[in-house]
Amino acid sequence: MSETFTGSFTQQEPIPEDAIEAALAVLRHGRLHRYNVADGEEGETALLEQEFADQMGAKYCLAVASGGYALAISLRAVGVKPGDKVLTNAFTLAPVPGSIASVGAEPVFVEVTEDLTIDLDDLAAKADQAKVLMLSHMRGHLCDMDRLMEICDGAGITVIEDCAHTMGASWNGVLSGKHGAVGCYSCQTYKHVNSGEGGLLITDDEEIAARAIMMSGSYMLYGRHLAGPGPEVFERVKYETPNISGRMDNLRAAILRPQLRDLDTQVERWNERYRTVEEGLRGTPGLTVVERPEQEVYVGSSIQFLLLDWSEEAVQEAVRRCAARGVELKWFGTPEPVAFTSRYDSWRYADTPRLPKSDRVLAGIIDMRVPLTFSLEDCAQIARIIRAEVSAVYQGA
Ligand SMILES: *Cc1c(COP(=O)(O)O)cnc(C)c1O
Repeated sequence: MSETFTGSFTQQEPIPEDAIEAALAVLRHGRLHRYNVADGEEGETALLEQEFADQMGAKYCLAVASGGYALAISLRAVGVKPGDKVLTNAFTLAPVPGSIASVGAEPVFVEVTEDLTIDLDDLAAKADQAKVLMLSHMRGHLCDMDRLMEICDGAGITVIEDCAHTMGASWNGVLSGKHGAVGCYSCQTYKHVNSGEGGLLITDDEEIAARAIMMSGSYMLYGRHLAGPGPEVFERVKYETPNISGRMDNLRAAILRPQLRDLDTQVERWNERYRTVEEGLRGTPGLTVVERPEQEVYVGSSIQFLLLDWSEEAVQEAVRRCAARGVELKWFGTPEPVAFTSRYDSWRYADTPRLPKSDRVLAGIIDMRVPLTFSLEDCAQIARIIRAEVSAVYQGA
């Protein structure tokens, strides 16, 4: 009898008890709106921003309604205008090109490598096409950030980092989100902290911070931000910055503050699971493990491997056989977009030529979530199942 996995790939851990207590306190006093504070009270959202700025070593932080919202207002805050072109990854999630489209700008996609990071040669070749790069650290893979910044600084390109999968990660000792002008994070259920929906943005630039705060819907209450610039900066921008309401509320912030204090522990727990799956997959015939560079500290909340140059039918067969044994794999090569879309050719509002290198890599990427509700034994079992089914298909069984 072959073994079957019975766990759920979409079940995250419950909200920690101290976060539930904090949420109940907010519900009991009823002041959920971030600017609805009692005399002398700072409010959960303002405190969250202050704590996250400290944690990341950033000057300014803003909490907002979602990660995608953080991306969109960052683009606008750095000065992207309708009709502008913005460089971004061909391999990313739909809200990334979506944020570019939402400000009336046009994505220019950069190829992806077999390491699942942005192709730096292609980026260098396209560097004269845009003044802004929306860099997505898709599925937590960090490119050589030193070389990327060299290319972008040399070409006068402003970098916004999409850190939806790299909260807690770093490159060469620098936290992800601290290389570019702005770092954006998601607090959505499937990311590294869970408030259902939510986003965070950090920057060291006072004008970007002031514009983002005003756009998020601060009205003239920006003085209540504990992680914002001084009033003189808002004086410079307040009449020309539209309110594009998208605040975070005190309830979500209350749930997030205790979770952020535990982030490093959670990262360790994800990585034990990731390494268990990775070890179990290493050496499987026909399967390429994505090697992680030494300079990268990653967060293994999901794992990817490649079935490079396999036929469509063979990949589908491997995915089907794993599913029959309870292992849910996502294939990025499906011709028709399903569930969360991550292929540049699904986003037809952008007029994009074919990207041959990305087509080859995307056709081979298999993706799997690694929720913290899995035990290490679960992870070992999952790897055994994938190994058996992928080998069987590869060897024509
Ligand atoms: C989830 C995600 C986002 C957007 O975050 P939301 O909070 O869902 O808006 C952006 N980029 C990537 C790569 C993501 O996975």
